[in-house]
Amino acid sequence: MSDRSASAGLDDPEVAAFRAELRAWLADHAPADPTPLHGEARAVYGAAWHRALYRGGWMGLSWPEAYGGRGLPALYEAVLNDEIGRAGAPAAPHVGFLGRALLHYGTEEQKLRYLPSLLSGDEVWCQGFSEPGAGSDLAALSTRAVLQNDRYVVNGQKIWTSDAAWADWCLLLVRTDLEVPKHRGISALVVDMATPGIEVRPIVQINGDTEFNEVFFTDVAVPVVNVVGSPGDGWSIAMTTVGYERGPADVGFSSRYARLLNELVAHARSNEVDEQQRLALARAHVQVEVLRAHVARSLTARDDGSPPGPEGSIDKLLSTRTEQLLHRTALDLFGAGALTGEVADVLSAYFYSRAASIAGGTSQIQRTIVAERLLGMPRGR
Ligand SMILES: Cc1cc2nc3c(=O)[nH]c(=O)nc-3n(C[C@H](O)[C@H](O)[C@H](O)COP(=O)(O)OP(=O)(O)OC[C@H]3O[C@@H](n4cnc5c(N)ncnc54)[C@H](O)[C@@H]3O)c2cc1C
Repeated sequence: MSDRSASAGLDDPEVAAFRAELRAWLADHAPADPTPLHGEARAVYGAAWHRALYRGGWMGLSWPEAYGGRGLPALYEAVLNDEIGRAGAPAAPHVGFLGRALLHYGTEEQKLRYLPSLLSGDEVWCQGFSEPGAGSDLAALSTRAVLQNDRYVVNGQKIWTSDAAWADWCLLLVRTDLEVPKHRGISALVVDMATPGIEVRPIVQINGDTEFNEVFFTDVAVPVVNVVGSPGDGWSIAMTTVGYERGPADVGFSSRYARLLNELVAHARSNEVDEQQRLALARAHVQVEVLRAHVARSLTARDDGSPPGPEGSIDKLLSTRTEQLLHRTALDLFGAGALTGEVADVLSAYFYSRAASIAGGTSQIQRTIVAERLLGMPRGR
């Protein structure tokens, strides 16, 4: 997918020069104040950081230049994650995985219209895939779109739609054909979230945040030119999207883990910690390094232009394991202070980490993909 080249190695002189330039930029621009964990404050902070990264030229590193990227080999995304984590800066916004669907399947007009503003942060997207009756079994989705002249009319409900309350656009999976097997009757639409008939209802999470939403569609008209790919391509588009969503570098998770680990180690150095806590930190350090190496390998493999396949499930499992260990360790290290709220955000972040084994496809589903599609084990019934 990149404009220039085929691949790069972490020790190449150009990569080292890029790293040095990025490190210097982060030293000058990384926000000093802590990232708010909740609500509008978090969204505003994230948007400002997104725009700063974009202005600095650090968004869309491996995206084609024609759509606002820099056309670099995918490995540069790993360097970005490494350096952001090292600097203790907030992770880059995870906008990429939805845009990747458009990059692979969209028309030239769609790519030119939507991708530059997605990368710059001028427009926010959400992912309208899951429904009350279709999560792990996504192909069972029932939100219906019926073609009427030059538009689809959409009726149905989505759930767990992150960021829907402030999104401008939704990549929406809908059922357009009831006559074919369920995987083949799904299409993907780009939906303007300001269209009449869309109602967004926030869901309050255990940590008090309202990242998720229910989204209801009642006779929502979507122009037929907003179909991504061809009608019936929805399943392939969904699989491409989740392939990127499961990549820890694409969603900025690997930089988050390095940042948190550094904070925990600094805390442990200046406080009394017991043997178990030291061991947990050592284990977390190993897991962060394993993930870092694995991310670099996965991104190098991507430079042939093909989207990530089932091997993305390994990334997702490693990422989940690391996230949950880090936040559990943080909870142990900060002890009563975390539980009473005296130390801000530790408990809330721990709660959120429990969702890592669900978001983007549950760990059980990832293990099934690894077993069946990578190891060739017999399919379950
Ligand atoms: C933080 C977060 C953000 C999210 N953001 C979005 C978003 O922006 N857009 C969106 O569309 N969705 C989003 N989701 C939804 C997410 O994709 C689904 O929650 C996930 O796919 C699981 O679906 P479900 O919740 O319906 O659980 P279910 O599919 O009902 O699963 C319930 C349990 O049964 C297990 N299970 C189900 N089927 C099998 C099987 N075949 N084999 C073994 N075990 C099985 C699951 O592993 C799980 O433990 C988000 C979820 C989270 C947690």
